[in-house]
Amino acid sequence: MRTSAGSDVEQLPRSALRELQSERLRSVFGIELEALAEAPFTSKAALREAYPFGLLRVPVSSLARVHASSGTHGKPTVVGYTRADLEVWTELMARCMTMAGVQPGMLVHNANTYGLFTGGHGFHQGAERIGATVIPVSGGFTARQAMLLRDLGGQVLVSTPSYALVIAQAVRDAGIDPSSLSLELGLFGGEPWTDGLRAEIERELPGLRAVNFYGLSEMCGPGVATECLPVRDGLHVNEDHFLVEVVDPETGSVLEEGSEGELVFTTLTKEAMPLLRYRTGDIGSLTFEPCECGRTFARIRGLRGRRDDMLIIRGVNIYPSNVEYLLLSVEDVAPHYQLVVTRPGAMDELLVQCEPASVDVNVEGLRERVETLLREHTGIRIPVEVLEPGGVQRSEGKAVRVVDRRAAS
Ligand SMILES: [Zn+2]
Repeated sequence: MRTSAGSDVEQLPRSALRELQSERLRSVFGIELEALAEAPFTSKAALREAYPFGLLRVPVSSLARVHASSGTHGKPTVVGYTRADLEVWTELMARCMTMAGVQPGMLVHNANTYGLFTGGHGFHQGAERIGATVIPVSGGFTARQAMLLRDLGGQVLVSTPSYALVIAQAVRDAGIDPSSLSLELGLFGGEPWTDGLRAEIERELPGLRAVNFYGLSEMCGPGVATECLPVRDGLHVNEDHFLVEVVDPETGSVLEEGSEGELVFTTLTKEAMPLLRYRTGDIGSLTFEPCECGRTFARIRGLRGRRDDMLIIRGVNIYPSNVEYLLLSVEDVAPHYQLVVTRPGAMDELLVQCEPASVDVNVEGLRERVETLLREHTGIRIPVEVLEPGGVQRSEGKAVRVVDRRAAS
């Protein structure tokens, strides 16, 4: 059985890990690790052009399963798995969930959507492999989520971080005291979130410790990188299966440890759809410092979400996660917000919509406090609209943080 300190491979000396990566890279792509920086990238556009099965290295008939990304920008990205790919994914999910504190016998309430989205099945497989008990609730029917959490006594909640807050609200709406629930762990991923949101979730669901999961369907789904429960400072990348680089989003040159840039992954063991230097579009940085938990795997820090989500407002680069970080530092703000982008003239304009934490909050004073904070940190004036409590649209999966009204304006 796995221990909380991690399996042997997770504690390999970096030199031995590099040797393993080198061997695997050579056998899958015929490339030497030293020459990786000169190898071509694979873009999301290449996956779209190859839609649906053009990048498969095996016949469709030998696939065990097909999943797809949500496809918010056009057609979904289809990924295939052989039996061996599913086995590796399951093992990696078991590893990540163990890292996040899940133990045999724990009740796992899985509120991730089951279907083409990898979040439902991925956590399901990992929980079963560990020997935990899965409750495959799937997303939606939020009132029922609250009832099942109370009646079945789920100890581990799996969902997006934004949906965890929606469930917490449903728990209160049902007249259930959140501290009477059995929740101990929250495994959250599928969208970028900040430590501020983590604190909010842990306040709303007392007793639960929230752990960040990162993944993308092009690699396997969740199971690419996860925080370790005791430290929760950066997400350990499963480097025996995924080679990670951080590159300059403009030039593509590899950046050094600690620099912020675009995360690029190479699969080292995938059979059905190996990808070389896949440009994720996600922004973050890497540290190779050994972690206090004993693991030697590199950690991703400062995950900001997709570069596509970056807004340029009067020359200033703004990520939704920047706004989230600032908003949640303001007293009396509820952890729900949306960024509305318009283009009244030649330039993009931004409006931040948020909610007061309760009906007793002075709305005008709150608006002024948030606007002042945004101006101090960005150097530009960003108007803020404080809606009624519940005024920001809730989501049962990935939250919609940016509302793009540029075409309409
Ligand atoms: Zn660690």
